[in-house]
Amino acid sequence: MSANVPVLEGRDLTKYFWVKQGRGPLARRVPVHAVDRVSVRLDAGKVTALVGESGAGKTTVARLLARIIKPDKGDVLLAGRPAPSGRPRSYAAQVQMVFQDPFASLNPVHQVRHHLVRPLQIHHMANGNVDAAVADLLRRVALKPPGNFTGKFPHELSGGQRQRVAIARALAVRPRVLIADEPVSMLDVSIRLGVLNLLADLRDKEQLALLYVTHDIASARYLADTIVVMYAGQLVETAPSASLTDKPAHPYTQLLLSAAPDPDRAQPPHLEGRGAPPSLSAPPSGCRFHPRCPFAMDICKRQVPPSIALDTNHIAACWLHVDPAERQANENGQVLTAGQPLDNESKKR
Ligand code: SF4
Repeated sequence: MSANVPVLEGRDLTKYFWVKQGRGPLARRVPVHAVDRVSVRLDAGKVTALVGESGAGKTTVARLLARIIKPDKGDVLLAGRPAPSGRPRSYAAQVQMVFQDPFASLNPVHQVRHHLVRPLQIHHMANGNVDAAVADLLRRVALKPPGNFTGKFPHELSGGQRQRVAIARALAVRPRVLIADEPVSMLDVSIRLGVLNLLADLRDKEQLALLYVTHDIASARYLADTIVVMYAGQLVETAPSASLTDKPAHPYTQLLLSAAPDPDRAQPPHLEGRGAPPSLSAPPSGCRFHPRCPFAMDICKRQVPPSIALDTNHIAACWLHVDPAERQANENGQVLTAGQPLDNESKKR
């Protein structure tokens, strides 16, 4: 496989969930725009962090990439080829997921050994020596000596140890991609760092392509090579971690960073407390962030901002980064950039 081909890629992923609104004869089903044209790539030996507030659509993107749910539009490519429909065993063997709550993801009536033996046997990964394979998995997630853990039940482990068992179970099938959905958010602060370091080790030593889903941009900055920021179901900024956190280009990324603890920051956060995310059954027109944005202009309320390349691999979807003349031309309906022309309905507003 060429180095430029991502191990796993989502292109223009779009997902709506239909919910009932109203009561009685007036009740109707309306779409919740959970994910709207989101593209993300995962490369071998790299961590990509998907960051945003609760309800931004991060978990939906993770589940779309894992093929747990189907997109309404868009494609998932595994090693450059269209992923099979559904989640067949061949796909699950390459793309594994670790969930937020390690206690819920481990069956409380089974010992650690059972949780690890099952995937080894189903996917024929034990090479004839199940006990050695279980011990190897436990060592890889730093649960040593393995003999101290194989006979334990989930309730006999700490939260961090449980999450390590869940990661070991995912590794049992030798995946190329690990999708970790808020893997440390339910753990004590004191043990989060250990699990993040374990994920970094797996990236470096096993060349896993890792998707780290989190609401915490500080931990994304610590762990990830690339950060992708989502707001209200859309991708708003993507860049290498250092460049995104040093020079955030999108006001929403600035909001996230201003809310993250940073002992070195001299200025007090200037965007904190600016409202809440919108309803996704009736998302705001134009830029979905405009009701909360201190820099919002008229065009932001009417037209979806184009994605602008600011630097190498640094892209932000914001009208602030469009040349004012082009912005004005878009306002007048003469579309010069990737912004969408106004439709008749919008022109009347
Ligand atoms: Fe703010 Fe406009 Fe940029 Fe949206 S497009 S983030 S409203 S300046």
